[in-house]
Amino acid sequence: MSAVSEPQAAHSTLEKPPSTAILCNTCGNVCKGEVLRVQNKYFHIKCFVCKACGCDLAEGGFFVRQGEYICTRDYQRLYGTRCFSCDQFIEGEVVSALGKTYHPDCFVCAACR
Ligand SMILES: [Zn+2]
Ligand SMILES: [Zn+2]
Ligand SMILES: [Zn+2]
Repeated sequence: MSAVSEPQAAHSTLEKPPSTAILCNTCGNVCKGEVLRVQNKYFHIKCFVCKACGCDLAEGGFFVRQGEYICTRDYQRLYGTRCFSCDQFIEGEVVSALGKTYHPDCFVCAACR
């Protein structure tokens, strides 16, 4: 009986330090220690903050808009989609009709509901 060895991730060359240092996308300094990776960009955890209010994005959710990172709250405030019926922001499913947007629940007949 022989143990089947799991295939290792292919590293054909000896490990070398990366030729280019990882730079924080916000402050431009070298990232050391804990680094946050978002898509293909790196950040110091303390540098990954909301563009609008400066809150910590590593904790909560965030949106990316034109390369800027914005917390959910600000994103909705600045760019959010409002329901034409109830005037509240819409998260998740959106119903669009005639250039207006609605919550699925709000998109009902105004007469009979
Ligand atoms: Zn930084
Ligand atoms: Zn914010
Ligand atoms: Zn609504």
